[in-house]
Amino acid sequence: MVQHYNIALLGATGSIGMQTLDIIRRMPERFTLVAAVAQSRWQELAAVAREFGARRVVIGDARYEQQLRDALADTDVEVLVGSEAIEYVASTDDVDMVVNALVGYAGLHPTLRAIESGKRIALANKETLVVAGDIVMAAARDKGIEILPIDSEHSAIKQCLEGEKRESVRNLIITCSGGSLRDVPRERLADVTPEEALQHPQWSMGAKITIDSATLVNKGFEVIEARWLFDMSPDNIKVVIHPQAIVHSMVEFKDGAVKAQLGNADMHTPISYALLYPDRALEANTPFSMLDYPMLTFSDVDREKYPALDIAYEVLRRGGTAPCIMNAANEVAVAAFLAKRCRLTDIVATIRYALDNATFVERPTIEDYDRVDAEVRTLAESYIGQLNY
Ligand code: NDP
Ligand code: MG
Repeated sequence: MVQHYNIALLGATGSIGMQTLDIIRRMPERFTLVAAVAQSRWQELAAVAREFGARRVVIGDARYEQQLRDALADTDVEVLVGSEAIEYVASTDDVDMVVNALVGYAGLHPTLRAIESGKRIALANKETLVVAGDIVMAAARDKGIEILPIDSEHSAIKQCLEGEKRESVRNLIITCSGGSLRDVPRERLADVTPEEALQHPQWSMGAKITIDSATLVNKGFEVIEARWLFDMSPDNIKVVIHPQAIVHSMVEFKDGAVKAQLGNADMHTPISYALLYPDRALEANTPFSMLDYPMLTFSDVDREKYPALDIAYEVLRRGGTAPCIMNAANEVAVAAFLAKRCRLTDIVATIRYALDNATFVERPTIEDYDRVDAEVRTLAESYIGQLNY
């Protein structure tokens, strides 16, 4: 008997969401889509609900409620609206697994609600762990729930750690393609346009994470994510540049052995690994051939060009609300950069400003995180507003 899961998919219309739907579509014996969530793309959401026969859908932005209701008027699909409803569909009794592919802080409360409700969790929304990894991991431990990472680096590390003892591990080595601006000299970063920064050489992803990859904020967030998922000290989490994006990450053991996980840069592999764990999908989109990649190269990160990576280590060591402050400032600044209201280099400047000015709480509760997140959004907006860009 194979295990079957009823899925609530949060962020169904996004990059990870649509690739998750590909997998669900191909494996009806393993998965049923019960609920789907989107923010604004109501037409796509209605189409998903119809194709998969979902029982309920949530649209985050209430402005699209009526269109969505009209589009599904001839079906039995229940239409819900807003953030409370997102948490609700992550917790109903008929759901076994929550796939969280929302972007940003909006993913945190639904993850917590899913944990409280005892759901299996496949987590793409790394911001959940960046902001509140302490609280989230403690809640998961209390409930005996494993959080299955969708992020390709963390999926790779999890695969390398299978069957190994925790005390044998020396370092986790996270690979980094370098993002869309890796060949752009540091002096030119201030003049980069959103269009240029959105052209990622290896991965086709949502806009926010593509910009985070260009600034290496994403890699910094992955260090924080790894700290929580694998309970590693920041000193034992390393980052190396690997432009080919074939080695998805590595684990270095104390005996000198290094295990790496390789494959095509295709998110279907880590998504299906999280969904099916401990099973694996029985076919790949495109089989990997080593002969297509006779040269795999590795180099150090240019810390001057990418200050965000060191800031991530710094906030991780500082703890408390520091990572939450970095995350909120980054969300506001990335949105401003995409809207051409600031320069790419203002993203890191906004993060630094917020870290210097926002309330720091050493042992935050979830209410503290909510409060600090809101405070930083206001701070970051006012900082960007006075930039005269
Ligand atoms: P996208 O922007 O492509 O998709 C985001 C999805 O979430 C969309 O369905 C969007 O709805 C929905 N959404 C966004 N905000 C809200 C909200 N406030 N309430 C309800 N729904 C919301 O993002 P990605 O798929 O690229 O990324 C998702 C997460 O996965 C991120 O945390 C990212 O860092 C992580 N990740 C992504 C990878 C990738 O390859 N894309 C790789 C590794 C991690 P709508 O479409 O209506 O706007
Ligand atoms: Mg990643």
